[in-house]
Order: sequence, then structure tokens, then C-alpha cells
Amino acid sequence: MLHREPTRGGAASRVVEVYTFGYVERDVLESVAGSASRVLGFEVRRAGTLSLPAEAFDRARGQYVAEEIARLLAHTKSGHSVGLLLADADAYVPGLNFVFGLADPELGVASVYLARLRLWTDRGNYVARVVKEVLHELGHVLGLRHCRSRGCVMNFSNNVFDVDRKLGAFCASCARALRRAGVEVPREYII
Ligand SMILES: [Zn+2]
Ligand SMILES: [Zn+2]
Repeated sequence: MLHREPTRGGAASRVVEVYTFGYVERDVLESVAGSASRVLGFEVRRAGTLSLPAEAFDRARGQYVAEEIARLLAHTKSGHSVGLLLADADAYVPGLNFVFGLADPELGVASVYLARLRLWTDRGNYVARVVKEVLHELGHVLGLRHCRSRGCVMNFSNNVFDVDRKLGAFCASCARALRRAGVEVPREYII
């Protein structure tokens, strides 16, 4: 017989460890920590810096290999925590010119790459972009897939203007999927 653990306490006790690489602005860190906690109920711990190995850097492209960074992060983070990396760098996965971020639900890790999110905008909107991409990647870690709803934070972004177009909030359907995963998104973060 299948026995289900109650999920309410599970969401509250979920921990995300935030790692940084390179220069990550203090207001970015604070906004990311605040949003992960308020929107997704994570307990946020600052975990320090992560040094990215030279082998994970593709010199010909001038970009990191995002999947290798994900594996490194998985080895570095502790136990059942989610590992979140904010990296002052550019990265790609094979088949794409670049990624703003990458999540691996199996490994329990998410990375967001800041270099392109800084482009063509002011400071306030740059911070908003990082927060959206963090919620997007943590959404993947919690089991969400890409969403067709254009305003939803789980909508796929091809470029920074796509990031600007979506909101830092989940559509009703994604919010329901999160509830099934034990995460109760506050009403003000549901479209
Ligand atoms: Zn995605
Ligand atoms: Zn959605």
C-alpha cells in the first residue's frame, strides 16, 4: 500500500544553497534570496563561492559548458538541498547558442548565467530578469516544464526581451502543479 508523506511541512523545510561565481551584485543576491523564499517557500542559505574549473570552459566559444557546471554544483551542494548557482559568466548547452540558465531536477541543481541578462537594460530591470530566471530554473527543479502561457515565468525565453515580457509569477496551471509538488505559491505570485 502506498503511503504518502504529508507535503505541507515538506515545502517549508526545503533548503536552497546559493553559490556564486565571479561578481554578483548584492542587490541581486538579496532579491534572489527574497523571491526564492517568498514565492517558492525555500529556506535560503548563502553557500559562498564556487570556482569553475578550466575544463568546463570552452575556449573556442568563450563560454562555459552548462551541463558540466551542473554536475560540479551537484557534487558541491550538501545532501538534499537544492544547489543554486549565480554565475557572472556566459554558458551554453550543445545545440543552443547560449542559455540564461539550466536546471537538472534529478541532480537538484539550477544555474543562472548573468552575462547576457545584464545587456540592454537598467539596473532595476536587470535584477528583475535574474529573479525571473531563478524562479524559472527552480520551477524546473520542482518538476515544472516549459509553459505556453506567455506571461508565465515558465515560458521559454529565447532572448532578453522574452525575459522582459514574462512576469515573475506563475500561471494558474503551473501554480497547481507546484501545489501537487508540495509548494503553495502565494496568490500575488499567480497570474
Ligand atoms: Zn526552462
Ligand atoms: Zn505556466
